[in-house]
Amino acid sequence: MSAPPTARPYRLGLLEGDGIGPEIVPAATRAVDAAMTSAGIPGVQWEPLPLGRAAIDEHGTPLPDSTLEALDGLDAWLLGPHDSAAYPEPHRSRLNPSGTIRTRFGLYANIRPAKAFEGAKAMVPGTDLVIVRENTEGFYADRNTHAGTGELMPTPDVAIAHGIITRAAVERIAHAAFRLARNRRNRLTIVHKANVLRLTTGLFRDVCREISAQYPEVAVDDFHIDAMTVHLLRRAPEFDVLVTENMFGDILSDLTGELAGSLGIAPSINVSDRHGMAQAAHGSAPDIAGRDVANPIAMMLSSAMLLDWLADRHDDAGLRRAAAALESGVARTVAAGTCTSDMGGAAGTTAFAESVADAIRSGAAA
Ligand code: ATP
Repeated sequence: MSAPPTARPYRLGLLEGDGIGPEIVPAATRAVDAAMTSAGIPGVQWEPLPLGRAAIDEHGTPLPDSTLEALDGLDAWLLGPHDSAAYPEPHRSRLNPSGTIRTRFGLYANIRPAKAFEGAKAMVPGTDLVIVRENTEGFYADRNTHAGTGELMPTPDVAIAHGIITRAAVERIAHAAFRLARNRRNRLTIVHKANVLRLTTGLFRDVCREISAQYPEVAVDDFHIDAMTVHLLRRAPEFDVLVTENMFGDILSDLTGELAGSLGIAPSINVSDRHGMAQAAHGSAPDIAGRDVANPIAMMLSSAMLLDWLADRHDDAGLRRAAAALESGVARTVAAGTCTSDMGGAAGTTAFAESVADAIRSGAAA
């Protein structure tokens, strides 16, 4: 017997951001709306909130306090990319909006799948892996301290950065990665650089190894980050779940996104035990912004991941169906040969979103 339908609409924040954000975020909400309808559950109540360049112009800051306060009261939210490197000072030098949000809400796990689509071009077909990136410390000095930053410049010609790895944070991310591996192909790879960064990434590797004793069904191996790039190029389909620190995870997931087809299809969510945020793995792509050519798949699939995360949190079978309908709608659209130019197709962002919504509707009718 299926579970009762969702009783209330979920309230999801909508932060479009910069560059291609105002194109791909509405494309994703369109797919979510179609998926909720196809699952026969109440639609999402969207809550648009200012963030990014437009917020600087309107509120004098890229991330107004009112946005942060509103996020706290929502079920979850979709974050578009931001182009903080292009903000005027003093905003450019400050912690960027997504870093601030991740820190404020303790979003410690950044889950970044890379899965090649059947029927689409991919550098390494058959890639189907997930990078689990620790999101709060490591070598990202702009977010690894409670106050101030882990970077300093004693003289104009000397720059110093700290990397921070703590047992508590590694245990937390290792458990998240092992739980995920257990629900997939029972294989986990620890990525580190313990031959050089012996104490910091050595601690990361060793704590992950310790935690592995609690998941005897999961096979574990580990590689240095540099060797890992080569193994992925040669044999990405053999890997399942990869767990790593903040900066390695950020870099590696651009690579795996591209190996699986395009950075434009690489989704991600950032989660704590209470809050969830969908955020494509790619940036704001200012080089193609405003031309209706951006690939919205990453943002769409990030939204599907967020629905799944919410479904687990609320034990909501309707949301789980909606997430599956969204994913399948995207996959069937690509398999039918409709895709954006980064994947070798001719569809624009809006036309692609329309096709996905049609595919979701026809899937529901089938
Ligand atoms: P960030 O530092 O914020 O991650 P970045 O400048 O490193 O950003 P991206 O903005 O992700 O990089 O862009 C890298 C390349 O990938 C660009 O050529 C961009 O056009 C392309 N790209 C990124 N996202 C998409 C997308 N959704 N669709 C098509 N191309 C994309």
